[in-house]
Amino acid sequence: MLSRKQLQRYSRQIMLPQIGETGQEKLSAARVLIIGLGGLGSPAALYLAAAGIGELHLVDGDTVEISNLQRQVLYKTNHRDKDKAQVAAQQLTAANPEIRIHAHCRMADQAWLSSLLSQQSFDLVLDCTDNLNIRHTINRVCRVQRVPVIMASVRGFSGQLVSFDFGSESSPCYACLFPPATEQSELPEAENCSTVGVVGPALGMVGSAQALEAIKMIVGLPVSSLNRLQLFEAASLEWRALTLPANSACPVCG
Ligand SMILES: [Zn+2]
Repeated sequence: MLSRKQLQRYSRQIMLPQIGETGQEKLSAARVLIIGLGGLGSPAALYLAAAGIGELHLVDGDTVEISNLQRQVLYKTNHRDKDKAQVAAQQLTAANPEIRIHAHCRMADQAWLSSLLSQQSFDLVLDCTDNLNIRHTINRVCRVQRVPVIMASVRGFSGQLVSFDFGSESSPCYACLFPPATEQSELPEAENCSTVGVVGPALGMVGSAQALEAIKMIVGLPVSSLNRLQLFEAASLEWRALTLPANSACPVCG
């Protein structure tokens, strides 16, 4: 049952037949882990907090730098040198004090992530990191723990978004698409926003799309990025989609 306060706060999405009170109850009962509170995690977390996801866990080991502010919209100039996860939790609590928010000021390594996902049941993990090694770790751990994942990244003007429902035995995984060795040779670890550059609103578009897919997945609506690589080109404002078959030679799920 939704409270009067919830009916009021979420009225504009509850009035949508695709969401309704039943959908809002699912959102309010959901526990979501957001890894990376940068250019993607900022809009994704803001929209998920505002939509009333019942419990958000925020993971980031970095502190706020002035060069982050061009795209990481959770932070203000006076947050310089503060822990991102902590500041993000404060900002999201200000946006919506009705939900539970946990800040984890650390990087998500395999041991820690496995332990967190096995101790508490998460409905969904959002990979908003800027790090291929961590992305492969998230892929492996979420597959083992059977937690659905929505992954995204943006370089320059180009973004990509893909989701996997590891609750399903036959789900492909991120390594089917980009096997760890191949991808690392194509995109070396050092190549990220800090070395290549990125246009802020492209992160806003793709991070918002992650939040949108999360809401659809939790409510039970069709998810357009499920087993489909969605490519966003900011220069032409176009999205393209490539369907991903499971790869029987995949080192993780094959
Ligand atoms: Zn795979």
